[in-house]
Amino acid sequence: MSPLGLFSVGRYTAAAEPLVITLKGVTKRYAMVTALEEVDLAIPPGSIFGIIGKSGAGKSTLLRIMSLLESPDRGEVYYGQERVDTLWGAALRERQRNMGMIFQNFNLMASRNVSGNIAYPLEIAGLHRGDIHERVEELLELVDITDKRKARLRELSGGQKQRVAIARALAVNPEVLFCDEATSSLDPLTTRSILSLIRELREKLRITVVLITHQMEVIRAICEEVAVLNEGRVAERGTVRDLFDNPRSAAARELLHGDVRGIERSDADE
Ligand code: ADP
Repeated sequence: MSPLGLFSVGRYTAAAEPLVITLKGVTKRYAMVTALEEVDLAIPPGSIFGIIGKSGAGKSTLLRIMSLLESPDRGEVYYGQERVDTLWGAALRERQRNMGMIFQNFNLMASRNVSGNIAYPLEIAGLHRGDIHERVEELLELVDITDKRKARLRELSGGQKQRVAIARALAVNPEVLFCDEATSSLDPLTTRSILSLIRELREKLRITVVLITHQMEVIRAICEEVAVLNEGRVAERGTVRDLFDNPRSAAARELLHGDVRGIERSDADE
């Protein structure tokens, strides 16, 4: 058993069954700006849930609140039955240890090679050297970059860097993976390969994936359910199919329109 008590080295499976994440009446203001207003949302466990909206809609704020990096001014956040927005100290850290996060700009450490980056959260968690080595090898294999284990970050493509970031995020077996515009700086082909990796990992590890993006094609490629955020409010939510077949809100129609134009542009390029 590892000091974390979260996973056994040598297994891919997540330690805990993911829990439904529920937001009730979540409101957040920054000075004069209302970033979120009365947001109600339930993220089904084990789903790939998309949150889409244009810039300034409140997506990052929502993600920071769901990942307990910030507290709402009003409202409540639950993981399963447990209210989590009021947690602090050791209980907060314990809950956050069940979350992994990946970002648009990868947030990797340039001073460490690929293995060193993936090992970092395991070192923080106090694992023994041998266990860290074994777990890093397992993670390299999981994201299919075994041949890059000793590479410096500058030798990697964007897609390979995101694979390292995914491996690092999954190192301590979180039950939820938050993706913050994780493919926004990648070309379409690399975006597709990262999205299919995320889908594969969800199947293999049975984790919940919450993905924020401004790109409709990302939602279409990978998500099952989606919430459209507009000016801090949920404009609509439902299945991805419904959103594309029958968008009910002006915000969704605007995002879809932008997407269609984007597809036409890339077709014309070919
Ligand atoms: P998105 O991720 O959809 O682009 P954000 O959640 O970043 O939206 O921002 C929502 C609104 O809240 C914006 O008007 C933004 O300027 C404001 N905002 C977000 N974070 C802060 C902050 N730390 N201080 C002040 N205003 C903020």
